[in-house]
Amino acid sequence: MSALANEFSWSHARHQVFQSCLKRYYFAYYASWGGWDPAAPARPRELYLLKRLSTRQQWAGHHAHQAIEFLLKNARHDSAGELAAAVEARQLEIMRREFRESRAGAYRADPVHVPGLFEHEYRLDVPPEEWKAVVDRTAQAIRRFLASDVWRDLRGLPDDDLLAVERRAHFTLDGLKVYAVPDLVVRRGGQVLVYDWKTGTADPAEHRTQLGIYALLALDRWTAAPDEIEAIAYNPVLDRRESFAYSADDFETLRDFIRDSADEMLFPLENPEANAAGDGANFDCAADDAPCKTCPFLRACPRWGA
Ligand code: SF4
Repeated sequence: MSALANEFSWSHARHQVFQSCLKRYYFAYYASWGGWDPAAPARPRELYLLKRLSTRQQWAGHHAHQAIEFLLKNARHDSAGELAAAVEARQLEIMRREFRESRAGAYRADPVHVPGLFEHEYRLDVPPEEWKAVVDRTAQAIRRFLASDVWRDLRGLPDDDLLAVERRAHFTLDGLKVYAVPDLVVRRGGQVLVYDWKTGTADPAEHRTQLGIYALLALDRWTAAPDEIEAIAYNPVLDRRESFAYSADDFETLRDFIRDSADEMLFPLENPEANAAGDGANFDCAADDAPCKTCPFLRACPRWGA
């Protein structure tokens, strides 16, 4: 069993899970803890396996991100454009392999390394044309990204100005670790630009808050001046870009948002000092079943008779 301590930390993703359903939050951040270890008891093993599942939409988004990451790390200086030309086929081949492995249930033996799909775990009847649409969406995201001004600008940047590519990092707020994974951070013309690739249909107000957390990371790591930071949500499927700037007051509001959210998260814990959640009795199921439709913990949830 893992001896790694489950320390309390904050991230925007964690905040979103907490807001969607307390029971799901308990499963994801407490009851599944240590389940990556083959020697862990059956319950955390099973919950960890479920936690790792992706819906087909999440899976498509992940592959669009992975392809862009590959381009940024490998293809910026490929003047012949061979790597860029091959990236779509390369990524779709990875998707085909993962699909076959997921359908065969390979993730059950190794949930750490083998991706599993929610639709396969729960034997959902998804017609072939819907699977094809998922793959087409990823292919379209890659093609549009390669044709975009964003890619043209990024290709011209010196390597030293690429500050972070898909790197998980954290800053500290009142002693609390706040994690953030911006898709890309670059320096250009005296500005620090923080990018997030968006392939879904989330609310733009959510984008402003989520990218604000990344901007706080930039303020901690790469510049002390709020007006030198621009955060950009770029949707490669639609070739749509939203830009956000944050004043010193905005940053203070974001810090308060994190403090309030973290306080809320600590409230249901049995022992907040030890980050101990107890048996989960304090974590209720969501008031309605809207978040259940894509919840990986369906099988483990008391609402559904587990
Ligand atoms: S199935 Fe629904 S109620 Fe249960 S943990 Fe998931 S979101 Fe919450």
